[in-house]
Order: sequence, then C-alpha cells, then structure tokens
Amino acid sequence: MANPLTPDVLVDPVVLTRALVDIESVSRDEKAIADCVEDVLRKAGHLSVRRLGNTVMARTRLGRGQRVILAGHLDTVPVNGNLPSTVVDDLIYGCGTADMKGGVALALHLAVTLPDPQYDVTYLFYESEEIDSEFNGLNLVAEEHPKWLRADFAVLLEPTFGAIEAGCQGTMQVDVRTRGRRAHTARAWRGVNAIHGAGEVLRRLETYHPRTVTIDGCTYREGLSAVRISGGVAGNVVPDECVVGVNLRFAPDRSEAQAAEHLREVFQGFDVEVTDSAPGALPGLDAAPAREFLAAVGIEPAAKLGWTDVARFAALGIPALNYGPGDPSLAHAADEHVEIGKIRDGAATLYRWLAP
Ligand SMILES: [Zn+2]
Repeated sequence: MANPLTPDVLVDPVVLTRALVDIESVSRDEKAIADCVEDVLRKAGHLSVRRLGNTVMARTRLGRGQRVILAGHLDTVPVNGNLPSTVVDDLIYGCGTADMKGGVALALHLAVTLPDPQYDVTYLFYESEEIDSEFNGLNLVAEEHPKWLRADFAVLLEPTFGAIEAGCQGTMQVDVRTRGRRAHTARAWRGVNAIHGAGEVLRRLETYHPRTVTIDGCTYREGLSAVRISGGVAGNVVPDECVVGVNLRFAPDRSEAQAAEHLREVFQGFDVEVTDSAPGALPGLDAAPAREFLAAVGIEPAAKLGWTDVARFAALGIPALNYGPGDPSLAHAADEHVEIGKIRDGAATLYRWLAP
C-alpha cells in the first residue's frame, strides 16, 4: 500500500487528520497506521526513530536544556459504521476523529515540519490505549525502554476541546463485606442476616460528604459510590455474607495508601478489601516548559476528573497534561467528530510554544 501520508498531506493538520482517520486502527490492529507513521518520521531526517510493537518514538537531538514529550495513541474503539471520514461544514466525522487522531495529527505535523524546536521534543505515537492496560504502548515502553520517556514535561493530545486538563484523580475499588450466620428462614431468629447488616454500609455512603480540593488552581471533586451489591444463598436461607462494591475517586493530594486508609475509616467495623486501584497525578504545572505552554494556550487549566495516561507520566516523575482539539464528550460515540477550527487553533498554539 502506498503511504497516504504524503508531504502535501503532512503540511496541513486538517488534511492529515482525515488521512489518519481513514487508516482504520482499532486496538490490536494498528500495524498499518504505525507503519505509515514510522515511514514519514524516518524520512524527516532530523529525527531519530525507534519502534516497539506498534508504538513509534521519534525525537530531536538538538542538545537543548529541556525535553518535552508530545504523545498520542494511534488506536480507536471499534468502528461503528463511521468510516471512512466525511466532512460537513467545519466538522470532520469518523471513528477516532476526536479520540484522538486530531491530536495525533498535530504531533505528527509538528514532528515533520518543525526541525528546530526550542526544546528537544520526543514524539510518541503509541498503541492500544483503549483496551486493557497490559497492552498499553506507553506502559510497554515504560517497562522496556524507560529512557524513551525521559523528559521535563509531557503533553498528551487527548480530546479536551482546546482546554488544558491537568493532573487526574485516582481511583480505588474496594469490597465492603458484612458477615452473618446462615439459618433456615423458617427459624430466622437462629441466624444473623448479612444483607440486613449492609444497611449500615449504605447509610454511611448516603451521608458521606466528598471533598472538593483545589491544587495549582485545578479543582478536583471526589466521589464515593456503591457500584455493586451481592449477597444471598437461596430463597429459604438467611444469608451469611453480603458484599458492597465501592468506588472512590480521589483527588491527587491523596496517595493510594491514604485513600485505602480513608476507606477503612469510613467503613470502620466492616471488612474492607482493596480489589483494584490507580494513583492520581498532581497537576505539576511549575516546570518552565509547562508554564510556557500555559502562556501559549492562554487559558487557565482545569482538573481532569477521569483517569488518563497523564498518571502514567506522573508515576515516572514527569508532569503531564491533556490538551487536544477533540470534544471529550464525543469520544467513542457513533457521531464522533472534530472541529476543523479546533485543529487549526491547536496547531497554531503548539507552534507558538515550540517554535525557536
Ligand atoms: Zn483517547
């Protein structure tokens, strides 16, 4: 297949967005798009290019004092009758337009058209962000080639509709377990009903007051929610166990250990077991390239409430934020689209920030 990412496509981030969207790249099927991206990066000449699976890394080696990362995932969720792309007025429709080929186009456009940025830049086009984290290209690079991720600051071009979303909340799943004693329901007084015992767990959830925390000007709203409940043995048995699954979304001023400690306090008297968790990430906006980035965009950052790969960078000690042209509320939707104006704004902003 001839590479559709020709020089005249690469110079225009809008045309490039469409070309990238039209290379279908559902998670685990990213070889074709990674081949095309790798090919144009190698031809650029001023970049040193490496590849791991279907993740492509390209970086400048200009000896600048600071290095920044521009990163985007190449995969999309499954196609939903929305390929190839179409254009209606100022909107490009199609699978992956918002999440996040509009953002990938910005990074790829800069990679090939800006040979002498004011910082050294590492471009990272990675695989399998939309599925289980064992396949996540960023995760795999962190394990196998951590040096590729050395930087002072990272921008993930995930959809934010041109806003800056910094840091992210952590998430923790726990099972809160109540215990009782089985008995025949005909002689219920001989048992202890574990489902009735869960009433107190639900009351504590109902009366819980989640915190709102502001860090570096970003406001994080925590949340504590029951997400599942299970218990019961049979229609004639007093149950001896009930489990309430609870999810805490916590602001990044708490560590995972502190979040677990907090949940043990909230559910004191009950058996609390952590079943899954991921740390949050502090906004970390005081590094020089981050401050200059904020100045180039010219708007105040907002908190990221969901969990994103920003936290993977934070775990490596690299402050990171999300900034991309797509509308996050359209991600994964059948009518997914991206505004051409947002792509042009994003390209101009990143150029202003990185141009020498
Ligand atoms: Zn995404």
